[in-house]
Amino acid sequence: ALRWWNHVFPAPKDPISGVTEAFLADTCPRKINLGVGAYRDDEGKPVVLQCVREAEAKISGCNFLESVFSKVSSKLVEESVKLVYGKDSEVVKEGSYAGIQAISGTGACRLFAEFQRRFYPGSQIYFPDPTWSNHHNIWRDAQVPRRNFHYYDWNAKGLNFSALIDDIKNAPDGSFFLLHPCAHNPTGVDPTEKQWREISYWFKVKNHFPFFDTAYQGFASGDLDQDAQSIRIFLEDGHWIGCAQSFSKNMGLYGHRVGCLSILCADTEKAAAVKSQLEKIARAMYGSPPVHGILLVSSILGDPNIKRLWEKEVKVMVDRIQRMRATLIESLTKLSSSHDWEHIKDQVGMFCYSGLTPEQVNRLRAEFSIYMTRDGRMSMAGVTTGNVSYLANALHEVTKA
Ligand code: PLP
Repeated sequence: ALRWWNHVFPAPKDPISGVTEAFLADTCPRKINLGVGAYRDDEGKPVVLQCVREAEAKISGCNFLESVFSKVSSKLVEESVKLVYGKDSEVVKEGSYAGIQAISGTGACRLFAEFQRRFYPGSQIYFPDPTWSNHHNIWRDAQVPRRNFHYYDWNAKGLNFSALIDDIKNAPDGSFFLLHPCAHNPTGVDPTEKQWREISYWFKVKNHFPFFDTAYQGFASGDLDQDAQSIRIFLEDGHWIGCAQSFSKNMGLYGHRVGCLSILCADTEKAAAVKSQLEKIARAMYGSPPVHGILLVSSILGDPNIKRLWEKEVKVMVDRIQRMRATLIESLTKLSSSHDWEHIKDQVGMFCYSGLTPEQVNRLRAEFSIYMTRDGRMSMAGVTTGNVSYLANALHEVTKA
């Protein structure tokens, strides 16, 4: 008989799920997983937010009839766009956006990539260097050519702003750019307000299209509006914007895969046309997303009391992460670590881009059972009061001259 699939070999491991697998197989009691960017409490446990529990209680008994779907789905989109563009913004009031619920941030990016190729065939996308590794997979699978633009300065360990602006100026007019509006993954380095204004200015001059991927709204400053400031600057400047939103991190709903894709349009008529095309793409890929998570998110965003509770809980998560960042730096200072850790003080969001070499990352894993991606990105959500000094000691050991 024909040996079907004989020519298929294992795909390379995903850098993040590979770390989790290795972590789970490790039997060392002191092991620490700093790979995955999902929130953990001070005991290292995953958290179900109280706002999610309240939303769950509210929707219990919903029988998930087909008729529920379109209503819930529009509610999710309506509430999601308010979060990014602002509830009082013209676009939201006029409804001049095409919005569709998506399978979390990944799915929103994938839908947009497909839409980009269909309606701007031959166009390319510019990614910050570095970016979330899956951006490359997503646009590659959608057959959109990828380019990098300068973002992180590995020597100065901050934003390479002048090179970034040069790349914006040098890209062909009307290029697509992917931007992280806050809490850049993996570097934790965001442009300042003034820099965002300048970026927006040059985008305008060059007629570039800004596609914002917002997977960590709330995680940079603890405030949802503040973290949408970059997007609002572009909005004020009259850009056409695309935006992928994820609720995996800021609502701790990783497993529910809830997200939204929105694209600003000239008017409601164009918005309806764009939306219908997005729905057509989704229909052939996966039909429609599961409704339970969408119900949860729309119930949280649509109920002022539950939403306030959510905002408070975001702040609690961010405060814990910031406390751990400060404690880690303090512990390293106490150890008189000669390595330069200054830069990690200013980083924001869930990650600490440590600057460790792949060899140092390997040593942390082999000698200390501390797991992170090879680029030295540590998820601060995995750091706790109980393990921070063990981590600091290990970092000190592997960075000693
Ligand atoms: N975008 C960025 C920058 C991310 O870091 C992530 C997750 O790590 C995502 C999008 C997508 O996450 P999800 O599909 O779980 O919402």
